[in-house]
Amino acid sequence: MPCGIALEKRPQQRVRANLPMDSARPQTPREKLEAWLRYYNDLNIGEFYKDRVARGNPAALSPQRSDHAATASLRPALPIATQKVVPVTPALPALPIVNAPSLFEAIDRVENDTLERIREDLGECTRCRLHKQRNNIVFGVGNPRAELVFVGEGPGHDEDVQGLPFVGRAGKLLTQMIEAMGLQREDVYICNVVKCRPPENRKPEDDEVATCSPYLHRQLEVIGPKAIVCLGGVAAQTLLGTKDPISRYRGVWFDFRNAKLLATYHPAYLLRNPNAKGEVWKDLQKVMTLLGLKARKAPR
Ligand code: URA
Repeated sequence: MPCGIALEKRPQQRVRANLPMDSARPQTPREKLEAWLRYYNDLNIGEFYKDRVARGNPAALSPQRSDHAATASLRPALPIATQKVVPVTPALPALPIVNAPSLFEAIDRVENDTLERIREDLGECTRCRLHKQRNNIVFGVGNPRAELVFVGEGPGHDEDVQGLPFVGRAGKLLTQMIEAMGLQREDVYICNVVKCRPPENRKPEDDEVATCSPYLHRQLEVIGPKAIVCLGGVAAQTLLGTKDPISRYRGVWFDFRNAKLLATYHPAYLLRNPNAKGEVWKDLQKVMTLLGLKARKAPR
């Protein structure tokens, strides 16, 4: 209910408000309405409404001035708090929440996709500079219905020669790790972020990863594993969409679409840092718990 408080806050204003309850009490609805309008006018609220019209209709800014506008310009400015901008456009209806795949998934997802189709789409790829020095595309190998997928960084020399992932020294260690988990290589699926060997085994560049990783996403989508183990920072950063170093989140489960994803150290890192094998074994035991596997032996 309006009262005289607004006037008391503005001592410089000498106009006394015509309160609607003043002596000559309005009787009819029209008189009552006029009394309220006078009251609002005295409180400068009339300016407020005029301003709204001006925002919505540029013609209202034309120099035609009503008596009210002419006198209003002499009044002190309204306190900031009362000059709140009210949107003049009608509020938009709330957007429906669509239960659809994320933009990333929508881009990568292919209806009735298969590993064969992904390999066909990859073709004799020349989409990035890595094709120039490769001997073979290393697509991936293993059980197309695997519950567990290992994702590495990119092929090395031996992989490039054979066209198969993880067949060199690091690959032999990975095979031992898989067997220690009570599995065989054929039980799991093994692939990489980039399918062509980066020269001198350098890290793949961001644009190379961006070009190649849609094929990895499609592979993971088609296989639909329960668990994904990222071997090393490049795989983890690619799938988790982060630049954070693997040391920050190694051994921690993440949700990745319908799977659980865990990052651990790359076998090549373990060859250089055998002391880290214990950490990796702990990570793999988490995977085994998730998949209900029994250890055969701890890897040496
Ligand atoms: N390192 C990888 O990241 N992938 C391979 O296939 C081999 C070594």
